[in-house]
Amino acid sequence: MARHDFAAPRLYVSQPLGQDREIELTRDQANYLVNVLRLADGATILAFDGHSGEWRARILGRGRKIVLRAEHQTRPQEGGPDLDYLFAPLKHARLDYMVGKATEMGAARLRPVLTRRTQVARVNLDRMRANVIEAAEQCGILAVPVVEPPEPIERALRAWPPDRLLVFCDEEAPVHDPVAALGGWRDRLGERPSLALLVGPEGGFEAEERAAILALPRVARLSLGPRVLRADTAAVAGLAILGAVLSDRHPP
Ligand code: SAH
Repeated sequence: MARHDFAAPRLYVSQPLGQDREIELTRDQANYLVNVLRLADGATILAFDGHSGEWRARILGRGRKIVLRAEHQTRPQEGGPDLDYLFAPLKHARLDYMVGKATEMGAARLRPVLTRRTQVARVNLDRMRANVIEAAEQCGILAVPVVEPPEPIERALRAWPPDRLLVFCDEEAPVHDPVAALGGWRDRLGERPSLALLVGPEGGFEAEERAAILALPRVARLSLGPRVLRADTAAVAGLAILGAVLSDRHPP
């Protein structure tokens, strides 16, 4: 694993970084660096934009503005797994938690899906994006996941690409060795498999939903053990097993 400098503050910036390129900080970013972290003019941090790796960047006052000047690249951009994370949205703090963990654990796309028993009708995408960025800044993530708008699960299943394996965390799956459940797919998927993980809502899946999910051309029904886990717990457990067995076997 690449050596990370976790001592230096890391900041996500939306403008593209490049050698000696100066980007103007937003008021919130400037406030965070200058007033919260109390970094002086000339201090350096690590900056990333999600596409051009990580850069050692210098804080420079430019009149009333604060800019960051990218001085040298500390890490090249690395792509994470081709992993969609589908989940029934939960309420506030649990959703914040689940979004952060999915980011840390390599999701490339966060896809809220609305199932029959989903209790949350609206999803605050800006809040989700802010949680994604916070997790990426804290954990050295370079490929920042995309947050998709919610969609009915029926639509997601209808449009399902045939080559993408869906790992279905099913609370009603017979208890079976999860590594064996996924291991059988290992040799059929190649070096950089197209993957997805699905975790349901607090009330679990309905029978018709379960049947439609299991009818997909590439689906692996995953039991996370004999106990029913809370959805945010299941998310972490499912992503950990999927990563260990399928997506993180060949780190970049
Ligand atoms: N009522 C609880 C648990 C609901 S189950 C709550 O408040 O969250 C929520 C989802 O977690 C399920 O739809 C399933 O995707 C996953 N899950 C929970 N326990 C599981 C298990 N033992 N095996 C597989 N998936 C599980």
